[in-house]
Amino acid sequence: MPMDATRNRRRVAVVGAGISGLTAALRLHLSGHDVELIEADETLGGRFGVGRLGDRPVMTGGKNIGRRYRTFRWFTSALGVDSYESFGYNASRVKDGRVLTLDSEKRGQTLRNIRRMGSARDVARLAAMAARIRMDESNRFLGSRYFGTISRRHDDAPLAAYFGREMTESLIRPMVIRNNGAEPDEVYPGTFGTNLAMLLDHYDQLAGGIQPALDAMARRVTVRAGARAESLVVNRLGRVTGLRISERGAPAQVSEYDGVVLATPAHAAAGIVAGARPTMAERLRRVRYFPSTVVLVEYDRPVFTSEVRALAMDDGPCSNAGSYGKEERHIVRYTYSGRAGRLTDPTPELIDKLTSESEDLLVTYLGAPRATRLNILVKHWPAAYSGYLPHHPAFLRELRADVETLPGLELAGDYIQGVSIEGCARTGSAAASRLAARLAGAPA
Ligand SMILES: Cc1cc2nc3c(=O)[nH]c(=O)nc-3n(C[C@H](O)[C@H](O)[C@H](O)COP(=O)(O)OP(=O)(O)OC[C@H]3O[C@@H](n4cnc5c(N)ncnc54)[C@H](O)[C@@H]3O)c2cc1C
Repeated sequence: MPMDATRNRRRVAVVGAGISGLTAALRLHLSGHDVELIEADETLGGRFGVGRLGDRPVMTGGKNIGRRYRTFRWFTSALGVDSYESFGYNASRVKDGRVLTLDSEKRGQTLRNIRRMGSARDVARLAAMAARIRMDESNRFLGSRYFGTISRRHDDAPLAAYFGREMTESLIRPMVIRNNGAEPDEVYPGTFGTNLAMLLDHYDQLAGGIQPALDAMARRVTVRAGARAESLVVNRLGRVTGLRISERGAPAQVSEYDGVVLATPAHAAAGIVAGARPTMAERLRRVRYFPSTVVLVEYDRPVFTSEVRALAMDDGPCSNAGSYGKEERHIVRYTYSGRAGRLTDPTPELIDKLTSESEDLLVTYLGAPRATRLNILVKHWPAAYSGYLPHHPAFLRELRADVETLPGLELAGDYIQGVSIEGCARTGSAAASRLAARLAGAPA
């Protein structure tokens, strides 16, 4: 810690131990503050979705880490956890009986396949956006200037109206279902840069999963697991001075802090700010979220090939089936999302039926004989992915103005720069930097 850091040392709370909150907590800790990480669940990690498949620790949520994920890679490296292995971006789709593969390691083949997926106008539109993303890093995230212009011009209609039907069905839909759990008529052109940026990256996975990083964080900051932040405490000058927190369902108690970062999905942040700022809560509640159910199955032998490691499926409830790792092709991750895949009651019987149907499709498409299930793990998220809002850049400006009225508060989360792990990590980092700067200027 720098020599004079203790003078400015403050007590700060970060609510939410997903990647947004973890990054904020680490930055604040490294700036010399006492950090409490407040997490409603008993485990850390949020939508990394840590769990066990048989004896093996697995991640049911976000785990593909782009080569361009600079902030996330800074986070793991600062914690001494930076052993990555290549995964690539490999997604195939069945079109007219042929399996078309988009693979970040085979750019030529991928570009040829994209050209087959839509009209010349749509391919040109996509290419223009891709060029902007390659030219300027900010276009990978929500609220950039270029996508702000797209939003002003085109966000009165959904993405399904921006691209023609062929391109929408063959390329756009699998992308927005995968990243937003949404259909193309439920998301808007002004946020599409975040999706396209993900297609243009190359992916790794943490060799040992996220758990070592979570353990390293728990050694650095105070973790209050099983603790739900209910509301802000605001003094008569309008400054945030604490939180009301309920531990394991007990009546809420006040904890005092010099600053608070809310690093939760928008709907959860809305509940916490509602008492102090009802209009801001209303704004946050408008952000759309879509559900997803992930089923991980371990088989007695590989199901995918090294050529085809993931298959986007159009018609049924299973939107995507993919191998868990590049070499772990005997573990399949089935994702149920999109309109047909929104399971309201994922009972074991329903999951068994859906998994059998998905297995039949894989046998048809991949031509491999049926494998035997050894272990199964199911994770259902009622609000898995943000699908943002039409005119999202305008929403972000209004929200920033709301936050400015509550000194001592900062927000981080998937609705600010985008749902990717990198987008979330960047918001955590930015929120922590702003809060640290304010605390440095505020009287002790
Ligand atoms: C199935 C799935 C697969 C994905 N795959 C990828 C991928 O491969 N690559 C990628 O880049 N992105 C992926 N994503 C997206 C990415 O994983 C998420 O957007 C990201 O992890 C969200 O992080 P977060 O910290 O913003 O939110 P969360 O991880 O949801 O963390 C928020 C935390 O806040 C806690 N909380 C909420 N309310 C309160 C409260 N009142 N008090 C205390 N705690 C509270 C919650 O329990 C939660 O732990 C995937 C997402 C899903 C669902």
